[in-house]
Amino acid sequence: MMIYMDNAATTRMRREVVEAMLPYMTAEYGNPSAGYELAARAKKAIEQAREEIADTLGCEAEEIFFTSGGTESDNWAIKSTMMAKNRGHMITSKIEHHAVFHSCRFLEQKGYQVSYIDVDADGLISLEQLENAIRPDTRMISVMAANNEIGTVEPIAEIGKIARKHHVLFHTDAVQAYSNIDLNIERDEFDMLSVSAHKINGPKGVGFLYVRKGTKLPPFMCGGAQEHGVRAGTENVSGIMGMAKAAKLAFQNRKMRLSHEYEIRNYMISRIQREIPYAKLNGHPTKRLANNMNFSFGNVDGGTLIAMLDHQNICAASGSACTSASKEASHVLKAIGLSDEMAHAAVRLTINENITFQEADYVINCLKYDVMRLQSELG
Ligand SMILES: *Cc1c(COP(=O)(O)O)cnc(C)c1O
Repeated sequence: MMIYMDNAATTRMRREVVEAMLPYMTAEYGNPSAGYELAARAKKAIEQAREEIADTLGCEAEEIFFTSGGTESDNWAIKSTMMAKNRGHMITSKIEHHAVFHSCRFLEQKGYQVSYIDVDADGLISLEQLENAIRPDTRMISVMAANNEIGTVEPIAEIGKIARKHHVLFHTDAVQAYSNIDLNIERDEFDMLSVSAHKINGPKGVGFLYVRKGTKLPPFMCGGAQEHGVRAGTENVSGIMGMAKAAKLAFQNRKMRLSHEYEIRNYMISRIQREIPYAKLNGHPTKRLANNMNFSFGNVDGGTLIAMLDHQNICAASGSACTSASKEASHVLKAIGLSDEMAHAAVRLTINENITFQEADYVINCLKYDVMRLQSELG
């Protein structure tokens, strides 16, 4: 039996999601742009999906644009906003996902200017520094709603207020936040918001970008007239159907799901802190995603620990799935002030609603055994 605790990297599709997709991979294979009944049914299906997704955010269907996932949504929002002019300035945080971070680096190479705002030791952005960084040529702010490594939930309502006050566009990467924290179109005042299906038990390779009506966002993908002419490419019909189903389910049982995750997560955190020596919890103690734990264990190499857990049939991540292939310490863990050593010692466990206390106990016992073994070898 396998225990999967890497839900921040990706999630398993629900049976209902697969079932919602299957017809559009078989009998209902029409190209939504074509002119016959088979195509019209596919077109109707994606417009229905757009309505359902809009309902989860309380926005209008025409404000939802389907993309190939979180990475494309982030690239589109940032590059297209900035590159609409030849120069300009934008503001982001030091703990963004690589899809945002590397888009900003790309823009810097093209001559645009980017301010990277500090976070505190818990990963919360400095609002004062953010507001002070705004200049006359600042075009946008991009700050994530919740962090994928340490789980910290950022004050997006406050950031939105600052952006609005200074007439600057506000984009948020909500890939980890969507359906897991309360996002409110009116209160939070964001102009663009990125979501990915495979982080909410939907299929990989599909997502969307919410774009507030009236926001000027040039196309990123050029080609046909799909998505009102701003995102070309034949629609991923089955993927969109799967995403809409996954979104609907995620919002339907949200209260119960989150409270179960909180309960198990808090139980695990308190046992780990009590029973495992030199365990440091990374990220904010309370303003964090319900399913996220990130620990650095003193005198332990995170990669080695992950391999030991793998042998015990536990899937966990060292720091972040995206950085595990590289030797560089995670930029997120560095930004919250961890030493290289403590950053390399980090392990991320992200649970889902199906985890039982019995499974949680098994994972804690394995962790305890592995960590203490590594600490006695290395310490
Ligand atoms: C996973 C993730 C992305 C990338 O989404 P993909 O659909 O995998 O491209 C972007 N931002 C955050 C915060 C993520 O967790």
